[in-house]
Amino acid sequence: MCGVFGIHGHDEAAKIAYLGLHALQHRGQESAGVVAGDRTLRRHVGMGLVADVFDEKTLGRLPGAAAIGHTRYSTAGSSEVRNAQPFLFEYSGGSVAIAHNGNLVNAEDLRNRLEASGSIFQTSSDTEVIVHLMAKVPEFDPVNRLIAALRQVQGAYSLVLLADDKLIGVRDPHGFRPLVIGRLKDGYVLSSETSAFDLIEAEYIRDVEPGELVVADNAGLRSFKLATSEAAPSRFCIFEHVYFARPDSLVNGKSVYRARERMGTRLAEEQPAIADVVIPVPDSGVPSAIGYAKRAGIPFEMGLIRSHYVGRTFIEPQDSIRHFGVRLKLSPVRSVVDGKRVVVVDDSLVRGTTSRKIVKMLRAAGAREVHLRISAPPTTNPCFYGIDTPNRSELVAASHTLDEIARYVTCDSLGYLSHEGMMSTMGAIGEDGEVGVGYCSACFTGVYPVQLGKGGDGELVRLRRNKV
Ligand code: AMP
Repeated sequence: MCGVFGIHGHDEAAKIAYLGLHALQHRGQESAGVVAGDRTLRRHVGMGLVADVFDEKTLGRLPGAAAIGHTRYSTAGSSEVRNAQPFLFEYSGGSVAIAHNGNLVNAEDLRNRLEASGSIFQTSSDTEVIVHLMAKVPEFDPVNRLIAALRQVQGAYSLVLLADDKLIGVRDPHGFRPLVIGRLKDGYVLSSETSAFDLIEAEYIRDVEPGELVVADNAGLRSFKLATSEAAPSRFCIFEHVYFARPDSLVNGKSVYRARERMGTRLAEEQPAIADVVIPVPDSGVPSAIGYAKRAGIPFEMGLIRSHYVGRTFIEPQDSIRHFGVRLKLSPVRSVVDGKRVVVVDDSLVRGTTSRKIVKMLRAAGAREVHLRISAPPTTNPCFYGIDTPNRSELVAASHTLDEIARYVTCDSLGYLSHEGMMSTMGAIGEDGEVGVGYCSACFTGVYPVQLGKGGDGELVRLRRNKV
């Protein structure tokens, strides 16, 4: 869960990257950074939000016509500035800067091998492995080095790099994570999502294809195919559409807003409720709640208000104010829910703790009945490809029935969208009836497109340590 951005061919590349990162802030709030330059690359990274990490002065120290940037997601344990990206390294080929969204599943094995042969790592991130592999390739051209390095890595990666006056973007052969190409005046831009293009007024051209590597330099834009030993079907992460990407973005060529709205429509068909009002859990539940309300013919209202000013909360009074964390973020609107039968629509239910608190909050505000509807299937499996889902043991749907979850959450009824329903809203049902063509939905099905070695929760802990 990270955001990446790149630009080539603009006088104020670092400033544009900074703006682009603002529009990718939802993809990661732990750290932010920019590397910019022409042949000499300079770096500024810091912990926290984009607006806190950069100011006029720091951006002024990043001259040059090319830049890459990164917003990093907060994960337990590895919140250190040394893991803040982009990374900038010097090797025999010159300088190389790299920013990564995704998770490599064989990073630990590769790292052990590299360390055994003398490599000294500066970070605990899996991304650094790619640069060490590049350094070992006996080639001069950074693009050839990168292609050779990527032959050895497995898993999910959408990367942007600066090397040798070139901006490089690449997606893994399955295309788990998004990466889009745009044009800004005479230059090119790359971004995790088109939300960044809208902000900087760049024109969206197309997505980087799964297994494609693009190079923007003074000669224009060129495309290469990554050589892969086996056929790699496209496996775009369905959770980008369910929760992660911004609704004003296009990812994988599809509007996130419309995808969520269609999921809500289908949810209303599959899981109707007799109610007076439909309310979303803001922000990510809003488009699906709109879809649900329209289809069900029940009025849509904002029954929960989200505070946009809550950062991390450090104090959690144990007894004095219960449910403090969620209440800081969300508060109920009594005049909307009082005395009503309420349908609450959220995009996903992971541990169940948020929903449980929301249901209690709505009842305390006078809701007569609370019917929880989730516009995705039950989350039953952890993600190894870059989304921060907890261990299987913490996923409530992995070990509880629908009734047990409803009892835990204390709602009057609970309904999820079916896997088939979700995939049909994405046009992902094959002619032969295969459900989920083109997508990875391992978090809902447990079918992992890239092998995970031994697997199991022990493996997950090991991978999460290196998460970006
Ligand atoms: P939970 O209390 O674990 O069931 O949290 C579910 C809520 O977290 C839902 O409102 C989702 O919108 C949101 N959510 C789902 N996945 C993630 C994630 N990977 N990181 C942060 N929030 C998430």
